[in-house]
Amino acid sequence: MRLSRYFLPVLKENPSEAQIVSHRYMLRAGMIKQQAAGIYSWLPLGYKVLRRIEQIVHEEQIKAGHIPLLMPTLQPADLWRESGRYDDYGEEMLRITDRHKRDMLYGPTNEEMITDIFRAHVNSYKDLPLTLYHIQWKFRDEIRPRFGVMRGREFLMKDGYNFDIDVDSALHAYNRHMVSYLRTYERMGLKAIPMRAASGPIGGDNTHEFLVLAATGESEVFYDSAITDLAFGDRVVDFDNRAECAAIVREWTTPYARTDETHDAAIYAAIPEARRKSSRAIEVGQIFFFGTKYSEPMGAVVVNDKGERVPVQMGSHGIGVSRLLGAIIEASHDDRGIIWPEGVTPFHVGLVNLKQGDSATDAACDVLYKALAARSLEPLYDDRDERAGAKFATMDLIGLPWRITVGPRGLASGKVELTSRRTGLSEEMTAEDAVARVAAIYEGV
Ligand code: ATP
Ligand code: MG
Repeated sequence: MRLSRYFLPVLKENPSEAQIVSHRYMLRAGMIKQQAAGIYSWLPLGYKVLRRIEQIVHEEQIKAGHIPLLMPTLQPADLWRESGRYDDYGEEMLRITDRHKRDMLYGPTNEEMITDIFRAHVNSYKDLPLTLYHIQWKFRDEIRPRFGVMRGREFLMKDGYNFDIDVDSALHAYNRHMVSYLRTYERMGLKAIPMRAASGPIGGDNTHEFLVLAATGESEVFYDSAITDLAFGDRVVDFDNRAECAAIVREWTTPYARTDETHDAAIYAAIPEARRKSSRAIEVGQIFFFGTKYSEPMGAVVVNDKGERVPVQMGSHGIGVSRLLGAIIEASHDDRGIIWPEGVTPFHVGLVNLKQGDSATDAACDVLYKALAARSLEPLYDDRDERAGAKFATMDLIGLPWRITVGPRGLASGKVELTSRRTGLSEEMTAEDAVARVAAIYEGV
């Protein structure tokens, strides 16, 4: 993409309404525009990152054997009357009446609807296990929408639902989700720690939240620092293997890690003092096992291998897709702007032309641009007629992890400069070497 043809409405001033760094940088980098409290348009740069995050979520869910579908944002109130949640959910639910005076709502989550789909089409244990998920906009009329996309009213969530014949199988589904989430967050460059949590209105006894440590987080957490040393890496997992998934879950749930709601001061005090940590943190996901909470009242029943009719065992599993942009920026920035992890960056590399209009420099940039594209890399080429300082400031603000700088002085000795946004270190090399280096960096990301 050439910057001169792109839509990147960068703000020079710090927007006064933004209290935390991720909100400030998302506005300044022209990623989002607020349309109403907690409701945002996603401008091209923000939309690109959102799509990258979604893509990672899809890939990891599909690897785990989970099946994507898409349910609507609007739901009939009657479904929620069946589960009893229409009255329980309270003012966070946006209630709507259509022209026929039918009660509708903008879905805050989808347990009822997915249970309705299930009961309409599945009635035998032979069709289980089954996990369906979607990535769809939700609406929760939060009392205090704030921090930009971090606590929106309209927000994008991945929510998945498992259906299993018995508790053991459902617990395997729970483990499968935990394992797939560990890899999902790591691919986004995040350390998201599973912590034992208390269940909210969705219900259930068995639940973990995934938390990213950050001073601006809204949760308070307590943990053994041993858990922050764990890395999932690129291990190959057989998601059908119950023992293997359970072992990974054990590895990640053995060190103490809890939110304030489940915190146990006595267990915490027994952790060696040097490893005893507490922090603020951002909730980026949550998994639940809740058994027959919805299947029983809603009649989602299957015939088991003994010919008995039993309510199906369920769980639900959410990832805060739009909140993740804020969480990633909170975890990865400096005083000049965002520093995108390679896994989610909107463009792979920035290309800065130091002397726009100089025919040799322009030609060298064009060659680089094409060479990068030929390696399936997407460059953002700053081809504007601007001072070098302004071009660098824009690149630093929008946070592309790599930058190639091209100017007449370097070209005279056949060199361009490759700069890491994270370390700030630059290296001179030929244009071909720069392309090869950037391609190698993104291999395996
Ligand atoms: P919170 O405690 O932050 O209000 P929640 O526990 O009510 O969130 P869940 O029902 O667990 O949320 O939803 C799954 C994920 O969706 C959360 O882990 C979070 O990352 C994201 N999420 C929830 N509410 C919002 C919101 N208002 N804006 C953006 N993302 C949200
Ligand atoms: Mg939650």
